[in-house]
Amino acid sequence: MMRIVLLGAPGSGKGTQAQRLQAKFNVPQVSSGDLLRDAVSRKTSLGLKAKAAMEAGQLVSDAIVLGLIRERLSRVDAQNGFILDGFPRNSDQAATLSKLLIEIGQPLEAVLLMDVRTKTLVQRLAGRRICKHCGKVFSVAALPKDMTCPKNSKGHELYQRADDKEEVIAKRLDVYQSQTKPLIDHYNKLGLLKVIKGEGDLEAITARMEAALKPAKQKRKTNAKTAKKKTKSVRKVTVKKVVKGTRIKKKTIIKLKSVALKKPAVKKSSRKTLAKSGKALVKKSSKPKAKNVSRKTSVRKK
Ligand SMILES: [Zn+2]
Repeated sequence: MMRIVLLGAPGSGKGTQAQRLQAKFNVPQVSSGDLLRDAVSRKTSLGLKAKAAMEAGQLVSDAIVLGLIRERLSRVDAQNGFILDGFPRNSDQAATLSKLLIEIGQPLEAVLLMDVRTKTLVQRLAGRRICKHCGKVFSVAALPKDMTCPKNSKGHELYQRADDKEEVIAKRLDVYQSQTKPLIDHYNKLGLLKVIKGEGDLEAITARMEAALKPAKQKRKTNAKTAKKKTKSVRKVTVKKVVKGTRIKKKTIIKLKSVALKKPAVKKSSRKTLAKSGKALVKKSSKPKAKNVSRKTSVRKK
């Protein structure tokens, strides 16, 4: 089960990690933007409403987006979970989303926030180039100097998106910060927020996300195991103290006495069983002896 919301600034690698989790855990990445585009193109009733709002220059209402999410999560592929991306964007939306998810019996398990320094975000966004031909996204740092799509240099020219220009990036990040901060606080108060260090090796970031998503049950079990081990080791230590003849507190003496009383009881019972088995052995061994004796006597009699 993986029912999560992904939060992260532009350039935080949220999309890349969502795709990795989707492939690994077989749960769909549900992006509100994709849902809207899909509904509009398929001309569903919600899609038509959304289209009308957009054409009138209005924002698509939360009710429409929530309706699309409800539809999407009722599909078979979302029964093992989902990765929500792009919604909610504010705490009001978060509250209505929570209501919906509880209603359909798929409450949120966690909210993962990709934590990436602003410096790194700017570097990543400013270095982003897109192939005009195949639409693939590249990083300047990973490209050869001639700056062409490595797949096929003919017609595969790279360009920079207008909103990836450095002066625009700063504004985008500001908008994200002011928009998302209340949302982060909201989920933090609910105890759902997990902050993931989103810099470094891709695999390592995915591993951090998985670790953050480990079920609470498993953690509790392992805690109980380690607690048992601890009490055992404590007992051993107190016994050792007695052997060495060092100072013992009253409490430890009481504990040791009860242990000492139990031990002979176990020994007694083991002695009894030993004695019983011993008797049995004696009986068995005495029988053949008697037979031997009778044979001997019978021989003697003959
Ligand atoms: Zn290309």
